[in-house]
Amino acid sequence: MTDAADTADNAELSAPGGTDVSLASQLLTLQRIDTEADQLVVRRKRLPERDDLATRTSQMTTWEKRRTQLVQRLGELTAVIESAEAANAELTTDRERLEAQMKTVIAPREAEALMHEIETIDGKRDELDDEELAALEEQAALDDDLTAHLGTEESLRAALRSSDEALARVCDDIDAELAGLADQRVAALEPLDSSVASHYDAVRSSAGVAVAELKGHRCEGCHLDLSAAEVDTAKEEAAESGFTDCPQCGRMLIV
Ligand SMILES: [Zn+2]
Repeated sequence: MTDAADTADNAELSAPGGTDVSLASQLLTLQRIDTEADQLVVRRKRLPERDDLATRTSQMTTWEKRRTQLVQRLGELTAVIESAEAANAELTTDRERLEAQMKTVIAPREAEALMHEIETIDGKRDELDDEELAALEEQAALDDDLTAHLGTEESLRAALRSSDEALARVCDDIDAELAGLADQRVAALEPLDSSVASHYDAVRSSAGVAVAELKGHRCEGCHLDLSAAEVDTAKEEAAESGFTDCPQCGRMLIV
C-alpha cells in the first residue's frame, strides 16, 4: 500500500459513520506501522556499522596489548641491564681488593690462589657483559618497535571514533523513524474500539503479526488454505465486524 493510498484510507476512516471496510483498513494500517517498527528494531540490532565498530574495537585492544607487552619487556630489560651493571661494579671492587692483596703477598701458593680468584671474577664479568650486551641489543630493537607501534595509535583511534560516530548516527536516524512510527501508532489506535485494540495486541504478542489478509482460500499470515465452508463463514463474519479470526493461526483475518 502506498503512502498516498494510506492517507486516502485514513481520511475515509476518520469520516463519521465508518463502515466495516474502514475497520479492515484501520487494522491493516496499524499492522503496517508495527511491521515497519519491528523491521527497524531488527535492522538496528544487525547494523553493519556494529560489525565495523567491533572490528575497530578489537584492533584497538590488540594494539593496546602489544604496547603493554613492549613496555613490559623493555622494563624487564632495563632491570637486567641495571642488575648486570650493579653486579659488575661489585666484582670490580672485589677485583681491586684482590689486586691490592697481590701486591702484599710473598708466598707463591697464596699468590696463585689470589690469581685464581681474580680469574674467576673476570669470567663472571665476561658473562655479565655478554648478558648486558644482549639486553642492550634487544632493548634497542624493541625501542624501535615501540616507536613504530606508537606511530599507528592515532590513526587507529581516529578509525575507532569514526566507527563509533557512524553507528550513533545510524541509530539516531532509526530512533527518529521509530519515534515517528510511535506517533503514527497512537493516531492509528485512536479510532479503534478498545476491545479491538486489545485483541490486536494480544494476537500480536502471540503471533508477531496480528493482521493477515485472506487471498482466495489462503490466509496470508500462516499460508494455510481455509476450507470452502471456512471461507464462507469468514466472509460472513468479516462483513459483520470487519475482520474474522483465522481458524488456523488465530490472526485477525481481513477478507
Ligand atoms: Zn492464518
